[in-house]
Amino acid sequence: MGIDPIKEPIPIMPAQHYSMGGIDTNEKCETLIKGFYAAGECACVSVHGGNRLGGNSLLDTIVFGKLGAISIDEYLLSNKIEPNERLLINKQQEVEKKIQKMASPGGEKPFKILDELRKTMSQYVGIFRTKEELQTGLNKILELRERYKNITISSPKLFMNYELIGALELEYMFDIGHIITLGALLREESRGAHSRRDFPQRNDADWLKHTLAAYGSDGEPVIYYKDVMITKYQPMERKY
Ligand SMILES: Cc1cc2nc3c(=O)[nH]c(=O)nc-3n(C[C@H](O)[C@H](O)[C@H](O)COP(=O)(O)OP(=O)(O)OC[C@H]3O[C@@H](n4cnc5c(N)ncnc54)[C@H](O)[C@@H]3O)c2cc1C
Repeated sequence: MGIDPIKEPIPIMPAQHYSMGGIDTNEKCETLIKGFYAAGECACVSVHGGNRLGGNSLLDTIVFGKLGAISIDEYLLSNKIEPNERLLINKQQEVEKKIQKMASPGGEKPFKILDELRKTMSQYVGIFRTKEELQTGLNKILELRERYKNITISSPKLFMNYELIGALELEYMFDIGHIITLGALLREESRGAHSRRDFPQRNDADWLKHTLAAYGSDGEPVIYYKDVMITKYQPMERKY
């Protein structure tokens, strides 16, 4: 970079360290979908509370990686699993159609929309949030999601096509960005890494519960809540 750190500061910028929350799982790494398991950073087995403490990813990966493998093994031994070929073929055709549509000219480049989505999430859905900021962020996400319907990629080729991978992943980023923003907007308190400047206090009476999201019949996310399982240790405020 041509910088001498003795003479001038090194430029730094924030980066994402961990995604809190994830696919809802139980202690056997089972999800709501039979035969579908999740473990590691993508899963949420609720061992971390509102903020993952440093070093505790080992719990996700080592402990639940092993428990997940044992569960999958048990499931495979006690169930006769046949792949549903028709379902897979239908899904493949659906994705192929989507890629063909993306390759038709005249639309926006996906990287531009991705860039705007990133900026929107950083500006309006950062650690410190207010109702107004989150609402602005949500409106912007929905606007970008509309624009995404008319994206154009340079080629529909499948081999080494990073633009295509990025374009397909972008669709899922809208899902995640949408539910993060919606959940944060509804949670009128501060807890863990969710700091509402307009609701700075933690409020266990109303909000000691997990936020969950699922698709409604209209294809839009629906937020619902689940009780927190409290065993030996009572939840308390993290103080330094
Ligand atoms: C800078 C940094 C420092 C950290 N320091 C610590 C620390 O000190 N202590 C701690 O406990 N935690 C730390 N963490 C968090 C911890 O490293 C992660 O939570 C943990 O590594 C996640 O492991 P994982 O196996 O669940 O996921 P990952 O390690 O993210 O593995 C997921 C894998 O899936 C692959 N993949 C993705 N999509 C697809 C696909 N469609 N098909 C096939 N493969 C796919 C990816 O390429 C990747 O290899 C740190 C994280 C960062 C970023």
